[in-house]
Amino acid sequence: MGEEAFEKLEDHLNKGEYEGKRYRHVPDYRRGIERGTVLIEGTAVRGFPKVPRTLVLEEGVPTHFDGRVTVEEKLNGYNVRVANVNGDVLAFSRSGMVCPFTTRYLGNRLDLEAVFEEYPAAMVCGEMIGPENPYTAHDYPGVDSLEFRAFDWRDRESGEPLPIEERRERYDAFGIPQTRFFGTYDVHEAAGEVERIVTDLDADDREGVVMKSPDGETQLKYTTSAANQGDLEFAFSLPFDYGQPFMFRRIIREAFQSVEWDEDPETREGRAHDLGEAILLSMTDTIDTIADGERIGERHTVRARPETVDALLEHLRNQGLTLEIIEDEGSGDDRVVTFEKRVQSTNDKTRNYLEGHIVTE
Ligand code: ATP
Ligand code: MG
Repeated sequence: MGEEAFEKLEDHLNKGEYEGKRYRHVPDYRRGIERGTVLIEGTAVRGFPKVPRTLVLEEGVPTHFDGRVTVEEKLNGYNVRVANVNGDVLAFSRSGMVCPFTTRYLGNRLDLEAVFEEYPAAMVCGEMIGPENPYTAHDYPGVDSLEFRAFDWRDRESGEPLPIEERRERYDAFGIPQTRFFGTYDVHEAAGEVERIVTDLDADDREGVVMKSPDGETQLKYTTSAANQGDLEFAFSLPFDYGQPFMFRRIIREAFQSVEWDEDPETREGRAHDLGEAILLSMTDTIDTIADGERIGERHTVRARPETVDALLEHLRNQGLTLEIIEDEGSGDDRVVTFEKRVQSTNDKTRNYLEGHIVTE
């Protein structure tokens, strides 16, 4: 993976700049190269591979793995890769942009210098989780604001992962917090174990698991009903701004889980009820709000150094988002800002329909 391979992709690359450093990145899926791969100052930083999903455990797990399967928790936040580019520790988004917010935020809170000193070619991969999150907010007990959890360690140029045991030991040695580890199981026991684990995660409103071969090469994800329904609730609160495939896929997951887990009629009805509420109540709330003359937006709160918050707001605006600042106050060394990302279609269409516009379909 060098300049040359990149040149071939020229037409599909996006350009970016971070503090005078120009870079190019692959913003979407391309054959043979991961989305999010970046070329910056002569250094290639590989994208994080797409993680496939199974809809059924009993058949899906043995089809995808042989031997042994390690199960780790899948956290619901946003993906970040951190690498040292000529002395600057930079945080890259899923699509390969330098995220000025995460770069500064982690720079102030997590000591990665020691990691890169010993392993200059490391790509530290993890999830940013917690409620004060500018992209994907989700509550985790014990996470008051926004925190990093490592879930992978790869070579930035080749994308090669470390075996899981080694990765976990390394992060431990550097005192870097990691995603939860549930265990390594024989492939024929794994489906049963995962069902048990996912049932517990579901009760705690957590997202699910990522199963991995112990060498770290093969991954497979599976999510809880709580995550499926949480996503639906969010998507249907902005019904005309979310892609319909996003919604449809989550409904399908619920059906397969219900069948695989052989739910009794009462349990299945409970699921149907909750699923219906996630879809309908979030929409009726939205319609009510707009009927009251208010606008709907995607609200986030962040807490960070003032300069870090400024960098975030500028970054989001540069991406074409319209932001409304709802609250902005100081708190010690930090600034706490609540803002809303403007959404267009849900506001416009809902208002039109409420005014009696006819639907031709
Ligand atoms: P993609 O699979 O391309 O990332 P997606 O939006 O479908 O896109 P998710 O459904 O969230 O993503 O699943 C994959 C993502 O899960 C990873 O990109 C990573 O950010 C996140 N993740 C959370 N916990 C883990 C974990 N333990 N191991 C691997 N990935 C994890
Ligand atoms: Mg995710």
